[in-house]
Amino acid sequence: MSRYLIQNLHAMPTVAGSANSIRIQGDVITAIGEDLPLEDGETAIDGRHCVAYPGFVNTHHHLAQSVLKGIPEGRQVPLGEWLAQVPYRYWPKITPDDMYVAAKVGFYELLRSGVATCADQHYLYHAGTSPELEDAVWQAAEELGIRFVLCRGATTTTGSHRGMQGNRIQPETLDLAISRMEASRQRYHDGSDLSMRRLVVAPTSLVHTSPRDDLLAFGEFAKAHGLKRHTHLLEVSYDEQVAQTQHGMSAVDYADSCGWLGEDVWFAHLVKADRPAIDKLARSGTRIAHCPTSNSRLGSGIAPVIDMAKAGMKITLGVDGSASSEGGSMLQEMNFAWLLHRTQHGADATSPEGVMGWATENGADLLGFKTGKLALGYGADIVLYRLDSPRLAGIHQSEWAPVMAGEPSEIHMSFVNGKPVVQGGRVLGVDEQQLTQDAMNVVQRLKSLVNS
Ligand SMILES: [Zn+2]
Repeated sequence: MSRYLIQNLHAMPTVAGSANSIRIQGDVITAIGEDLPLEDGETAIDGRHCVAYPGFVNTHHHLAQSVLKGIPEGRQVPLGEWLAQVPYRYWPKITPDDMYVAAKVGFYELLRSGVATCADQHYLYHAGTSPELEDAVWQAAEELGIRFVLCRGATTTTGSHRGMQGNRIQPETLDLAISRMEASRQRYHDGSDLSMRRLVVAPTSLVHTSPRDDLLAFGEFAKAHGLKRHTHLLEVSYDEQVAQTQHGMSAVDYADSCGWLGEDVWFAHLVKADRPAIDKLARSGTRIAHCPTSNSRLGSGIAPVIDMAKAGMKITLGVDGSASSEGGSMLQEMNFAWLLHRTQHGADATSPEGVMGWATENGADLLGFKTGKLALGYGADIVLYRLDSPRLAGIHQSEWAPVMAGEPSEIHMSFVNGKPVVQGGRVLGVDEQQLTQDAMNVVQRLKSLVNS
């Protein structure tokens, strides 16, 4: 069992009282205190000039998009056109080898920005999908040591989405999607508190990619196996229009009628949630993956998370896929979330403490992990940020400097489940030069395919 003692920390602002040391034994935190003594068999980590936070929890991503950044046709257009021009246009062309590179790039970006846990909505499934396309993501996660939740997307109808129709994507049948989900569950899912691999049932969109009966069936499958549920909702007002036209009710009422509200459900975006929608979501315990960078990049709007939090909804944060959020940095997302809502609600709308809770405790609680807190018996997901740089040295309340100043910030060391994953700003297990070359090769191949 590996054992570490992190000593001499400058600050641990999420921990009450005075403490400057954290003891890790195996995968958990076993002591937090002032000047804890080094014990036999422990490796000392010098945390001088560092602030320690719980490792961040990213609750919405599309790792495949890590090789689809900044595509010109998708740069100046809103969601509907962007979906048609970017993800739907490219995803039938992505091979398992491409996916492995994309996942590695995405995990690299997350780890180097302080993430310990990533929930990825992987939706590259169609009638002819190779299981290796999914295996590649699990493999990359395991190699880099990130805690990984695969939100298994599914499209069982081309429905109302022109992006799917235009790219002639052949959907899975419901039976095929569920049988493949069951195969993944048996192979990968571990429901324990400190599991490194979880499966979530995540049809790609609530309104557009599966009919009501299929949503009901996905919900039953999830409940039968204790799996959580996730999808996109109300990123733009089109969801509301389709729900009203096709079902004669609001999008959130439609979700309710499909059994898709509850504490086991979270939706990405909810930018267009109105007052009745917020109240209903809050009452049911449904949660949000708030993705402010992506919402800004696509001009979708600002999700009403301040009102949601007041109504009792637990806010979590996601960086979203890198085709609509090119940075892929959770620290940047936190910095932006801290700033953005002040433009609407004033200077006391958000705080670094509050945003930290969204990015750690709330995310871990949503996904069902005993992580997201620096506390005894919790998983040792810990990130140490250096504060001794010219850029951060002028900040008086230095324990919040990385959140207030955003990128670039340097991680001294980061642990997931008690194992080092970043050291001296470098993501362990990644040859940066090789990964850069691999990603460039994938981009070249995809470019030549779509242009031929
Ligand atoms: Zn998304």
